[in-house]
Amino acid sequence: MSASDHHGMSTRAIHAERASDPHGCPHVPIYDTTTFVFPTTQALTDVSEGRRRGGLYTRYGMNPTLFALEDSLASLEHAPAALSFGSGMAAISALLLAHGRQGVVCLGEVYGGTLGFLTEQLPELGYATYRLLGDETERLEALLEEGVGLVYIETPSNPTLALTDIARLAELAHRHGALLAVDNTFATPINQQPLALGADIVVHSATKYLGGHSDLTAGAMMGPEALLAKVVPWRTNLGTAPSPQVASMLSRSLRTLAVRVAQHNASALAIAEAMHDHPRVRRVCYPGLPSHPGHALARAQMRGFGGMLTLDLDADGAGAARVAERLTLFLLAPSLGGVESLVTQPITTTHVDLSPDERARRGIGDGMLRLSVGLEDVDDLIADLRQALAE
Ligand code: PLP
Repeated sequence: MSASDHHGMSTRAIHAERASDPHGCPHVPIYDTTTFVFPTTQALTDVSEGRRRGGLYTRYGMNPTLFALEDSLASLEHAPAALSFGSGMAAISALLLAHGRQGVVCLGEVYGGTLGFLTEQLPELGYATYRLLGDETERLEALLEEGVGLVYIETPSNPTLALTDIARLAELAHRHGALLAVDNTFATPINQQPLALGADIVVHSATKYLGGHSDLTAGAMMGPEALLAKVVPWRTNLGTAPSPQVASMLSRSLRTLAVRVAQHNASALAIAEAMHDHPRVRRVCYPGLPSHPGHALARAQMRGFGGMLTLDLDADGAGAARVAERLTLFLLAPSLGGVESLVTQPITTTHVDLSPDERARRGIGDGMLRLSVGLEDVDDLIADLRQALAE
């Protein structure tokens, strides 16, 4: 059996890659090789000219370990095809380079590296890029009317977990002949499937939930063959396919994605509810709480609310930093999506480059702490937060 369209997410995660292995291994081994040997020139050109899928050269992404990973990635996002990368930024930069020629408009908050690429590197190469606040839909329409070709979003976005309506935006972009790309890192395909909602391309930092153990760096892109085909030469010539070793580790992680994400969701919701009435917490940003401005939309377009939440403390920057330092189970580290809980202060990490005015416009407070809720026992995590807030 291999995974097919009617199967659920865990079945897909466990069985999708089996279709790729000719020797019947339940998981595809690491093809620890840079190149592949052919009996004849005809056999080589069948692969190099695309008549048969096979190993050719690992930097091209043409290695069975990567094919197995990409089969799983595509299956999880219900996508026709997927490409794997050496990092999330490798996937995002390749996407923007390949599909951003007619201009890129980024709506709402995006990851700092993405923002840097959009505002610094892409303009240096002559790409027109625009950055709008999440509610600037009129400006978005004007840009689309002028012919901008790619709309790029993250939902939920960092750090306020703001939501964007994927179906509405896809319809708007398509009406103007543009594409919609979604960074689905925070939600994961378990909680949200942008392609089914009308988006054209999905990207992930697989370093986060897809990898899930803070021990690998990788990226992913899912979408129709024709759109990914434009990205392939960028990945090939920038040399950003993952190594077979990393691809194998990521394949292994994907098999437990659904159970891990279910627990991340449950624990984050329990923490959000426990912190909601805490006297030192002004606001809990979590899409699963009815008080979150995006709650109704989250219920409509997500199946789970995710493992990320932000506490807006009744504290200044230094006070919030002291709380972060008193935590013992939430580790102070700038990442997310692993089995261990992490805490970061947006003003000193993800949003350090924004001016205080810019931060205020985007609702990012000095007293905010962003939590990536891990898989520890949730009662221990809540107790850790309570003791850190008590002093
Ligand atoms: N997208 C999001 C939402 C992220 O949080 C990150 C990294 O934190 C990235 C993309 C970039 O991923 P990577 O560090 O794997 O390049």
